[in-house]
Amino acid sequence: MATIFSTATGGPLPSTMSDQQLSIRAIFEHAMKSHPRKQIVSRDGPEILRFTYAEFGKRVAKLANALRTLGVRPGDRVASFAWNGHRHLELYYAVPMIGAVLHTVNIRLFPDQAAFVLDHAGDRVVFYDGSLTKAIKAAAALDPGAGRTFVQMGASSESFEGALDYETLLAPEADTYDWPDVDERSAAILCYTSATTGDPKGVLFSHRSTFIHALASGLADALGITERDRVLPIVPMFHVNAWGTPFMCLMIGADFIMPMERLDPAGVIEMCDSERVTFSAGVPTVWMAVRDMLRAQNRSLPLLKRIVIGGSAMPSSLMDDLNALGIEAIHAWGMTEMSPIGTVSRDISELDGDPDKQRRERYKQGRFSPIVQYRIVDESGNEVAADGVARGELLVRGYAVAKEYYNNPSATETAFEPDGWFHTGDVVTMDEYGYIEIVDRVKDFIKSGGEWISSVEVENILMGHPGLKEACVFGIPHPKWQERPVATVVVREGHEPDEDAIRAWLGDKLAKWQTPDRVIFVDTIPRTGVGKFLKRDLRERYKALFAEKDA
Ligand code: ADP
Repeated sequence: MATIFSTATGGPLPSTMSDQQLSIRAIFEHAMKSHPRKQIVSRDGPEILRFTYAEFGKRVAKLANALRTLGVRPGDRVASFAWNGHRHLELYYAVPMIGAVLHTVNIRLFPDQAAFVLDHAGDRVVFYDGSLTKAIKAAAALDPGAGRTFVQMGASSESFEGALDYETLLAPEADTYDWPDVDERSAAILCYTSATTGDPKGVLFSHRSTFIHALASGLADALGITERDRVLPIVPMFHVNAWGTPFMCLMIGADFIMPMERLDPAGVIEMCDSERVTFSAGVPTVWMAVRDMLRAQNRSLPLLKRIVIGGSAMPSSLMDDLNALGIEAIHAWGMTEMSPIGTVSRDISELDGDPDKQRRERYKQGRFSPIVQYRIVDESGNEVAADGVARGELLVRGYAVAKEYYNNPSATETAFEPDGWFHTGDVVTMDEYGYIEIVDRVKDFIKSGGEWISSVEVENILMGHPGLKEACVFGIPHPKWQERPVATVVVREGHEPDEDAIRAWLGDKLAKWQTPDRVIFVDTIPRTGVGKFLKRDLRERYKALFAEKDA
């Protein structure tokens, strides 16, 4: 929308304020100047490396010079294929600050999917961790776009012919850089959705949206990170920018600690302990495993105060268990298309007198960030009541929300309205206090005999069963009811629940028609690269379950 500054025509009066560009460089330069002695910590093989922000800044400048030596120009795409580590963080800053675009590839994609996104993005250079050499070679072998440069970060037992070495590239370069002015609306980072519900779709974050997202998500009633925090993002840096933490932390001056491949519960606990971590973030599965280990060892993590959990619904039992261990578990919701944080569930003063109600609200996905506009609409597009009961699809728009997908007009047309409103595909309720609850994804609802069953609700209850470790619920075609719910569950060690007993236990908590017809015991539940249940695969695997029975 064009704004006309003209007092002569009765237009708005221009302000007297300076018009600084919102950029990643602005975050970086503030961090270097105001917090030079704060820390960047990273695992690197068996070692733990430590850098001050100032030392990190010099490496970022060396990398920027090396990128120019490699011929990377503004607008070029540079891929990372990496764990959360200091070299990945260097790419986070150096690539956008020279005007190029960092494409953070999900390292858990199948080789053909990784080849697809490298090709779709048109990446010129690919930086990969040495421990991921095999995976990137497999993708490169399928990749039709020849002529990419590969750069290896850290040691590898496997060789990749023609690949350059990161440290060798950086060594001769100067540790200062004359950073260019980059237009705040230009692209900084490219991230593809995790393909839970279809092909990966690219979202290009701008410098401006990245800056605004970091400001808003750091607010006290959002993540509330402070300069005193020592932050360990378990959420990968290829999963929507580790939810913005690499930018939030440097903006605020918090110490930033990266675990590399040690995402196993023992590794997370060890790092929390040895690095005195106060704040962390990740998907529910990681924290379920950490909880189980802490309980088995009858210990706690006294310094770890807060964890933000999102990406998929946090079971209320997980929140209760973490609270009992002295950790505040904060529920958040978001999407790649939203940079990603949309809502965070924090307490509000209005409910101070009603702790029970406040606790129930905490289980929900939370209240909206000030930078997100939202509408919750029924099938006719009318807004539904904010009464905690009426359901509707959530539409969003905002300062850090996409308006289209990168080079994908058909997906854009399906998901975005011409005026920018984005269909999240999530069905939600909102209550009078503004907390939303994700009822289900439109595609995951189970339609049974004219009723809709929320798979998320049934999973939440099942995951509170003492004998179950994990549960995933999905709909399978049924000759009489259209679809019926089926649960796949992973049993907790030392327990032997049987199917009928679980169904009977559920029967006390759910209506009969909502109770899964079958509970299937499995060793593992298939997941996407960022830890979400792959319901598509399960629906395919069990598609004939009821047909066979009734045949
Ligand atoms: P993909 O859409 O490929 O899975 P995203 O990582 O962007 O990639 O996933 C966003 C979706 O994840 C949301 O639309 C929502 O369905 C789900 N999600 C994220 N956080 C939560 C949460 N706290 N509770 C329930 N669902 C969530």
